[in-house]
Amino acid sequence: MSPEEYLEQTREQGLRELEEFLRIPSISSQPERTDDVRRAAEHLRQRYQAIGLEHTAIIPTAGHPVVYADWLRAPGKPTVLVYGHYDVQPVDPLDRWTSPPFEPVRQDGQLLARGSSDDKGQIAVHWQAIDALLRTRDALPLNLKVIAEGEEEIGSPNFAEFAHAERQRLRADFVVVSDTSMVRKGLPAITYGLRGLVYFELRVEASSSDLHSGSYGGIAPNPIQALAEIVTRLKDPSGRVLVPGFYDRVRPLTDEERAEFARVPVDEKELVASYGFEGLAGEPGFTPRERQWGRPTLDFNGVWGGYQGAGAKTIIPGSANAKLSCRLVPDQDPAEVAEAIARHLEAVRPSTVRTSLTQIAGCSEPFLTPLEHPLNQAARRALRRVYGSEPAFVRSGGSIGAVLPLHRELGAPCLLVGFVLPDSRAHAPNERLDLDCFHLGRRAAASLWEEIAAITPSS
Ligand SMILES: [Zn+2]
Repeated sequence: MSPEEYLEQTREQGLRELEEFLRIPSISSQPERTDDVRRAAEHLRQRYQAIGLEHTAIIPTAGHPVVYADWLRAPGKPTVLVYGHYDVQPVDPLDRWTSPPFEPVRQDGQLLARGSSDDKGQIAVHWQAIDALLRTRDALPLNLKVIAEGEEEIGSPNFAEFAHAERQRLRADFVVVSDTSMVRKGLPAITYGLRGLVYFELRVEASSSDLHSGSYGGIAPNPIQALAEIVTRLKDPSGRVLVPGFYDRVRPLTDEERAEFARVPVDEKELVASYGFEGLAGEPGFTPRERQWGRPTLDFNGVWGGYQGAGAKTIIPGSANAKLSCRLVPDQDPAEVAEAIARHLEAVRPSTVRTSLTQIAGCSEPFLTPLEHPLNQAARRALRRVYGSEPAFVRSGGSIGAVLPLHRELGAPCLLVGFVLPDSRAHAPNERLDLDCFHLGRRAAASLWEEIAAITPSS
């Protein structure tokens, strides 16, 4: 029997296995669910053991544990590390669910449950593909290491430390992350780039206290005015960032990338209608999709200062504040960008105020596996064969917590491929998994290993 035939024959069994996994409410953010999170980890470890993976382990971290398993009996073949996460988001508001979130229900070709798409369904896709290969061929075409994180939904606070401490055990030639989605039914996607992030708080101070605007108006410098002047000198009305050097290391989009992005354009009309925009913002010379995926941003996230209560208070405020952040693209460096912004701020600051710029929250580097990389091309062949259409190469405007630590610690190229639909209501009520996508995903995952196994080490 071929792995494909095996997967065809075990469709119902596969769904039942997933449903069992979905019944465990592994909500990582709620302390009262700690035992359930742990139970989900143990459930998964046993599943890995049952399908014939070896060295299964529950690896503790300072928070929820990571599940590990491997199969390393293909000497001379590449080793791939597969990542997923077994924790899920909270379920509130519960009254918006049409069925209990941890009692999976099949309805109109969908499986409804928290975690069905994000990310337990994708973990199941992988274990079932591995199972099919081991059952029918008694071997995998390459060496596999599988890990499942338990803290993705709370921002992976311990994952970087885990990846560093376990870098020997995790060592691999390639990393595959399945926590992204397809473009739409029938059109699979390879997410080959992520934007990075750097975040600041800016304080503009003119005096040590608020002052009477009758006595000091006309004399005292106004920090809100100064902040407004600074803001307009950081970015112009067209959307172009004015910080010298900001764009220096931005890798230009190739013609091929622009063509790929054009296959999945932003629906401007729908976007404008659904959010009530008057129009879209952004840098001239780029399509909305290019601005969203391939260009860096500088955005103001908050602004405050002066009197904010009811009625009037006649003051010249002592200080004003803003929060701002940049989404970064390859090959921008968060530290370099932070320095450039600090330098520019000093240059444009009105001389009547003091400013301080503090970097807050963790910054992250942008990430990219070039389109033409053999790993991406192997995935392209696998997806094309199973879905019968040319997969789209997309990027994400945000970041994925686990990707950078794995990339950094293992020095291995990373493939981001997911088997679920973008409108699967992840994090929302009535999260669902399209059953056709689930079954095709299992076949795609099986064929992925065969294609990656064929990559020659030199390429
Ligand atoms: Zn996820």
